[in-house]
Formats: sequence, structure tokens, C-alpha cells
Amino acid sequence: MKDVRVLLGDITQSDADCIVNAAKKSLLGGGGVDGAIHKAAGPELVKECATLGGCETGEAKITKGYKLKAAYVIHTVGPVYSGAESDAVLLGQCYTNSLDLAKKHNLHSIAFPAVSTGVYGYPPEKATVIAVEAVKKWKDENRDYRMRVDFYCFSEMMYAQYILKLKNTRY
Ligand code: ADP
Repeated sequence: MKDVRVLLGDITQSDADCIVNAAKKSLLGGGGVDGAIHKAAGPELVKECATLGGCETGEAKITKGYKLKAAYVIHTVGPVYSGAESDAVLLGQCYTNSLDLAKKHNLHSIAFPAVSTGVYGYPPEKATVIAVEAVKKWKDENRDYRMRVDFYCFSEMMYAQYILKLKNTRY
């Protein structure tokens, strides 16, 4: 896919216009990537998040990035993996709604963590397929809009999953 990269490392170091946070519904911070983003952004981030009234699963909300290199943070809430068919739909919506919001704010690069694959328990091989397919579909539907997409992986295993899926994706 054009303009799609897989990177191994800490998403808080990303130079994208916006980074995506795998947030909790309260938007008031948590562990994992959420904790890392809040720590790197500084205490102003949670103050802005507190004004947003939370976020439903599959939806996305935007804040400034404060001390991060990224100007904005898009907070999305992934599904807790249950094995139900709705899991995949909701996880796909996390990617699509985040991309829509980035476009709405005229942003041209976005970095995603592997939403739901930590404490929310989504199997990485399933989650990466959903992530790559949702991004591909969005890019196909938004051909006139330039958007660089970075998938940030926090482990070699996750990195390998994305590389495998991207290799098998026709574009
Ligand atoms: P969730 O609650 O959506 O499962 P987690 O934060 O527990 O969210 O995990 C989501 C993914 O983010 C996991 O694959 C985890 O390894 C990864 N992760 C954790 N910290 C970072 C980080 N600093 N940068 C990028 N990815 C991270």
C-alpha cells in the first residue's frame, strides 16, 4: 500500500502529525500505550481529555499533543476481545474513525499502535488483518487525499505479523 509503513518502537517518539491512543472509555488514562502517551504528553493531556465526556468503543476523539512531537492525539477505544463477530467491526471502526478525524483536521500522517492487542486481549494475527484491511479500504475510498500511515509495533512478533499481512495485501 502506498504510504504505509511498519515501524518497531515507541509510538510516543513518532514524528507523524497525529498519533493514535488505544484509550479507555473514560479517556482518563490507563496502562500500556495509553500510559506511555500520557506520560510523554504531560499533564495537560488528561485535563483536555476530561472535557470530552469519554469515548465509546469504536469511536475516536482528538486532542492536542502537548509535549509530544505529534501535534495531535486521536483517542480511540478498541473492543475488549470476546470472540463475537462485533469485535472485528468495532476494531475496524477504530481505524476508520481515526483516519476520518485526521482528515477532517487536515492532517496528512498518522501513527497507530496495535489497538486492543494488549490488555484487551485481541489476538495479534487477527487484529493486524483487521487493521491493514481497514486502512486499505479507507485509502481506496480517499484516493484524492494524501495520508501516510505508520503501524507502530512494540514487539518483533507484532512487527512480523504486520509485514506478513502487508506482503499479502494487493494494492
Ligand atoms: P489495549 O487496551 O487496546 O489492548 P494496550 O496499551 O494494552 O491497549 O496495548 C495495545 C498495543 O500497544 C500492544 O500491542 C502493546 O504492546 C502496544 N504498546 C504498548 N506500549 C506501546 C508504546 N509505547 N508504543 C507503541 N505500542 C505500544
